[in-house]
Amino acid sequence: MLYDNLAVNEAGHLTIGGVDTVYLAEKYGTPLYVLDEDKIRENCRLYVSAMKEHFGSDSLPLFAGKALCFKGMYRVLEQEGLCADVVSPGELYTALAAGFPAERLFFHGNNKTDEDIRYGVDSKIGWFIVDNLNELESLNHYAGEKGIRQKVLLRVTPGIDPHTLEAINTGRIDCQFGSPIETGQAATFVEQALSKENIEIWGFHSHIGSQIFEAEPFCDAVDILLKFAQEMRSRFGFTAQIFNLGGGFGVRYVESDPHVDIPANIRALAEHLKHGCAELSYPQPRVYMEPGRSIVANAGITLYTAGGVKNIEGYRSYVTVDGGMTDNPRYALYGANYTVLMANRMKETATDAYTVAGRCCESGDLIQENVSLPEPRRGDLIAVLTTGAYNFAMSSNYNRICRPAVVMVCAGNDYLTVRRQTFEDLVACDL
Ligand SMILES: *Cc1c(COP(=O)(O)O)cnc(C)c1O
Repeated sequence: MLYDNLAVNEAGHLTIGGVDTVYLAEKYGTPLYVLDEDKIRENCRLYVSAMKEHFGSDSLPLFAGKALCFKGMYRVLEQEGLCADVVSPGELYTALAAGFPAERLFFHGNNKTDEDIRYGVDSKIGWFIVDNLNELESLNHYAGEKGIRQKVLLRVTPGIDPHTLEAINTGRIDCQFGSPIETGQAATFVEQALSKENIEIWGFHSHIGSQIFEAEPFCDAVDILLKFAQEMRSRFGFTAQIFNLGGGFGVRYVESDPHVDIPANIRALAEHLKHGCAELSYPQPRVYMEPGRSIVANAGITLYTAGGVKNIEGYRSYVTVDGGMTDNPRYALYGANYTVLMANRMKETATDAYTVAGRCCESGDLIQENVSLPEPRRGDLIAVLTTGAYNFAMSSNYNRICRPAVVMVCAGNDYLTVRRQTFEDLVACDL
């Protein structure tokens, strides 16, 4: 099995966190997102303990809310002692509505509107991660209006290509996020931030990409950040006390993906940072990281009911499911890999390769191609693994399809955490 929270019971059914997926599908209907709360907590603890041990006790993971955002998630995060990133006023609202402490929130995003900035300041959000000069001006203005000095990190781009998918690669210079170090824009950014009386700058943020399977690209980013920080120290007498290294450790979607030992990578990264600081006689900064995917992806699966099989003579066989790109657009968007299983017939051997198609009116609405399954029958339960990140979060109502419910399993029990949308929800905003 791809992850240790998945197993097969005597009935030949897939289980997650010890709970039978056939039982869950019958109880809550399909399509259904199932999340293993114990696995989420285990992932949180891996980061919290390794970061405190290796980077120092005031270092922390901030959960990247864009990966999975609903109220129940913030309750888990708060209990596990994490901070969280929000990238939009809607994410901020969700976190606050869940009772997540505002001072533990970091406001991200490359185009925060004046309204967003005012909302963040009014909410007493702990931190802004400022993307650019325009935003800096606006934030300085609203913080001044409110009579506060807003704590910020400045987002800089180190210009690193972590050899990942183009679409999820944001550390290189030519991108819409942050201010590039190489062109000198980042230095101007620091100079401007230091001149703003309502801005309190604590350090730098960089995010180099996603699905990174080793410490090396992060070490490269640390080298560039340290050199930059040293330069800012000598030019402006400003010492960055925080390095936020962004998110990005990878997860296994298919058996051939490597396993990432997160604590070992954090240790290697910490040693690299320690060494670099010593070499430059730079005081060691506290470190934040922003894991999204690696906190929730392997805690989630999606359950679908098969509609039937369509054999296109001389071409291929399709199995249709009762969801699709509306609950998981990632294959349609960038060909993301997934493992697909026949959850109610796990002991049967595969007979053929199938293309799993959704129910949307788009030929691109595929969940995965070429998956080996026993011959599907109408009513079979199809499970897609590793869907905890960027599935619910990226879901849509295309074709007026209702968003699925989200169910949590925890210590062998199950509970509803986001209810399924209804047709009334679909027309709720229509006047
Ligand atoms: C997407 C993103 C993350 C999270 O990335 P994962 O690959 O999900 O860990 C963190 N920080 C920033 C700025 C991001 O854009």
